[in-house]
Amino acid sequence: MTDFIEGLPKCELHLHIEGTLEPELKFELAGRNGIDLPYASVEEIRAAYSFDDLPSFLKIYYEGMDVLRTEPDFYDLAMAYLRKAASQNVRYAEIFFDPQAHTSRGVPFDIVIRGLRRALIDAESRLGIRAQLIMCFLRDFQAEYAMATLLESLPYREWIVGVGLDSDEKGNPPVKFKAVYERARQEGYLLTMHCDVDQENSTEHIRQAIEEIGVNRVDHGVNALEDPSLVEAIRERGLGLTVCPISNGYVTDSMKADAIRRMLDLGLRVTVNSDDPAYFAGYVQENLVALADALDLSREDLVQLERNAFEITWLPRHLKDAYLAELDAYAAG
Ligand SMILES: [Zn+2]
Repeated sequence: MTDFIEGLPKCELHLHIEGTLEPELKFELAGRNGIDLPYASVEEIRAAYSFDDLPSFLKIYYEGMDVLRTEPDFYDLAMAYLRKAASQNVRYAEIFFDPQAHTSRGVPFDIVIRGLRRALIDAESRLGIRAQLIMCFLRDFQAEYAMATLLESLPYREWIVGVGLDSDEKGNPPVKFKAVYERARQEGYLLTMHCDVDQENSTEHIRQAIEEIGVNRVDHGVNALEDPSLVEAIRERGLGLTVCPISNGYVTDSMKADAIRRMLDLGLRVTVNSDDPAYFAGYVQENLVALADALDLSREDLVQLERNAFEITWLPRHLKDAYLAELDAYAAG
């Protein structure tokens, strides 16, 4: 089954570019920028990656980003991810980036996006992997800062396919960003947001995301299964769910494999993704293998997960169809 998964044409829809910063690159960038890291070796950094909930993860995550300073740093970060993804036969990725995690420490927005954008262009021509950017707002910052970031992004509108919302969900419900999302929709952005797993008021937050914000997709959203009316709303609107099994295992009590099985059985458009692979030790290949092991997934299940993913991408129809044809050819092979 591992071989079958290796060859499977894959799609990644829940991937934070800052979460792909591997310790090796962290050292390289620290050296380049003259920054002293509080670690002596790659092994020491990896040993520090022990989290048991979202806040403990986020603390280490934001600390790690300090080495990202210049346009070439962001280029190298994205290029390293795209090379890794291409090696796992990821054919298409929608990549989150967190501009406020950089502008809040003095790195200008245009430095961030120019580096990322240049990597996406080079990766497509050199590696044959296509990708688009989704700009996420940090929900533990004020809504006014999110709005300012949205306005700052407008000159780069054509480089960004949609907006998302991430970081610490506790006390930061979707409706806090209602005006920001309304403006984003007016500007032509597609809309998604994190509804993280097992949060305080999880089901209420999912309801707000769907009914009050009108998202086009939900990131995570596993707790929707607790409320039949949410399941119905997700099905009715054909909303995709970007679930991240290995990540779930780090920040909650389990991979939530059974929930993914139920979502598949309910015919929901559930997908498997890697979230922050440098921190959770697993890219999309490893996530699919772990889930296949846990659930004894069939080849049909695995193909269905990727079919769901290509179907809910924010690509034009003809490109979706091209990837789906590639998937079908592999499944028939
Ligand atoms: Zn995430």
